[in-house]
Amino acid sequence: MALKFTIEEISKSDRDTLGRDIDITVFRLIRFMDLERYLGRGAHGVIYECGKELGQALNPSSIDDVVKFCEKYKIGKVEVVNKEPLQIRVHECISCSGLPNVGENLCWFEGGFIAGCLESILDKKVRVKETHCAGLGNNFCQFEIKFL
Ligand SMILES: [Zn+2]
Repeated sequence: MALKFTIEEISKSDRDTLGRDIDITVFRLIRFMDLERYLGRGAHGVIYECGKELGQALNPSSIDDVVKFCEKYKIGKVEVVNKEPLQIRVHECISCSGLPNVGENLCWFEGGFIAGCLESILDKKVRVKETHCAGLGNNFCQFEIKFL
């Protein structure tokens, strides 16, 4: 398990005139490529595992670190809304906020990311399931955490 680049490496940019910022459209075009066509129904699981690797590579020591990382990179506004069971809500999600209701949750990468972060923080195996999402008609994402 390893990312191709460290977070430090991947954050470097030599774009003197275009700068660091891109429109959210570009991110979403990449994020919602039709991976199922190539990977079959397992695509969601692959995306989840990729998010989990990022969370583990980030290696946060607290939920507060995760909240700050997500605000710094404008991934979303992360909030713990319940402790038993643990439920984490993401407002203004980078992937889905504003997208239409398509009858399915969309944020497999974010769920995996939360899983990877929590496993680093708590040193326990977890499974994260997205229960609310713009893809399901909600105006926030919410994830429920199961300890394995
Ligand atoms: Zn979502």
